[in-house]
Amino acid sequence: MFKGDIELEKQNRLEALFSGDRCVQQCFQPVHVADLRKFMHNLPKQVPVRALGMGSNIVIRNGGFEGAIVMLGKRFGGFELLPENRVRVGAGALTTDVVHKAKRCGLDLTFLGEVPGTIGGAISSNAGFNGKSIGEYFLRATTIRRDGTVKTIKRREFSSTEDLLIDLADAVIVQAILQLEQDTPESLNQRYIDLKRRHEQVYSLYPLKTGYAFCLPDLSKNKRSEPLLPHAVDALVSLGTFQDSRSKLRLDPDHPNIIFAKSKSDFEALEQFGNKIRSECREKLNTELDWKIKFLGKK
Ligand SMILES: Cc1cc2nc3c(=O)[nH]c(=O)nc-3n(C[C@H](O)[C@H](O)[C@H](O)COP(=O)(O)OP(=O)(O)OC[C@H]3O[C@@H](n4cnc5c(N)ncnc54)[C@H](O)[C@@H]3O)c2cc1C
Repeated sequence: MFKGDIELEKQNRLEALFSGDRCVQQCFQPVHVADLRKFMHNLPKQVPVRALGMGSNIVIRNGGFEGAIVMLGKRFGGFELLPENRVRVGAGALTTDVVHKAKRCGLDLTFLGEVPGTIGGAISSNAGFNGKSIGEYFLRATTIRRDGTVKTIKRREFSSTEDLLIDLADAVIVQAILQLEQDTPESLNQRYIDLKRRHEQVYSLYPLKTGYAFCLPDLSKNKRSEPLLPHAVDALVSLGTFQDSRSKLRLDPDHPNIIFAKSKSDFEALEQFGNKIRSECREKLNTELDWKIKFLGKK
């Protein structure tokens, strides 16, 4: 979603969620794991469940989401230092808080220092910046499945990050173990400052913007005969400036993969604009892009 809108939208969204008539059937904030397990177990099987972190990469369509939303919040925000440069982190913890706590322990998660959201959201969307992503440091996570059972998922059981993310799709992550690189407090602080500056440069321009909008999740979908484009960014750069005259939504080749808006835009316009970009990539570059932003509910 657009960052400038986060607080307002969150309020509006929560009101809409709780109004229960058109948006979602239920919004549940568990007190502890047993509470969440009971909720998932007792929910009728046909009701879809989706975890919501801070909502920085998720859009509930105007038609509403007929399912249950689980929001973990601060109660699931723990941080514990473990041996061998490992940390146990709650999925409800804010990513930026975890970055600072890790830094104080001499552990490097600085590439996520400016990425808005929670640890659950970061793992689920394999958040990253500057060539690093959280999936590289992920060891295992405790998840609650749709039927209320607990399952630990381990990095080594999956051949790729994509497989891991597919497995996470119907589960709520409650905590994860990350194994991080160690460094001195001075270099971690300096790296944090540098990355913060770079992130601000990348995300500058208008106050209203999305995070990374697209990804190339499955390279086998791309049918190019030449070597595949390694990142969504390469395809988006070659599209050049792309703007929608009505909504003013804009893709800028200097800040590729971020959709900027000049004024508060309807999410429907965002989805339409993004789909236009995806068809341009398909037609002109023979490259299939997937949304990284998650759209929930009916159109
Ligand atoms: C201004 C701006 C800058 C950004 N910069 C970056 C960047 O540099 N790099 C980057 O990678 N992203 C970036 N993003 C995107 C976003 O910050 C990340 O994707 C972030 O990790 C999402 O976290 P969240 O808690 O907000 O997740 P949400 O947006 O709430 O959810 C995202 C996905 O995660 C799932 N999810 C959330 N919590 C859980 C859980 N506990 N269990 C299972 N699934 C869960 C949701 O169901 C959804 O599918 C940016 C966004 C904005 C608005």
